[in-house]
Amino acid sequence: MKRSAALFLLLAASTAQAHDVRQLGAHVHGQATVDLALDQGNLELALQAPGIGILDFERPPANAAERVALAHATSVLKSGSWVTLPTAAHCRLARGSATADGFAAATAPVKPGQHVHAGFSARLQYRCANPVALRALVMRLPTVFPGLHEVIVNTVTDSGQGRSVLNAGNLRVVLAP
Ligand SMILES: [Zn+2]
Repeated sequence: MKRSAALFLLLAASTAQAHDVRQLGAHVHGQATVDLALDQGNLELALQAPGIGILDFERPPANAAERVALAHATSVLKSGSWVTLPTAAHCRLARGSATADGFAAATAPVKPGQHVHAGFSARLQYRCANPVALRALVMRLPTVFPGLHEVIVNTVTDSGQGRSVLNAGNLRVVLAP
């Protein structure tokens, strides 16, 4: 009895996951994407992350603790505290912004069986006085938000394009070999 109930939940969960991937290519629970561009001394990072990964829910906060968690996550993303740049590059954060989308109460009632997603986007703009020293950087998203199992970083720099896949055991993004 117990075993079949567990199996049912497992199947339901994997069906929901497959549904996510098919319907919204970019929305994969536990996986974030960062597009990084370095142009002269301008370094820009654009993050897209699902609610499940940064938090463990994708709906309006149900209590005070969830409201605090949502506000905290947004402020952490905006602060840039999840990025460590080489000191020698002399970068400063010129602008940081973050938004939580889809966590407000729905204006129309949600139909049974309807999938509603929520997530975060953030943008960080740095000015670096010595961009030559920007050969690698550390992005601690998988340790700051343990629900993020994978972070895909697409990079564009003067030396070309690259792609790094980060997880808790590998937080380093190499920009120049
Ligand atoms: Zn979702």
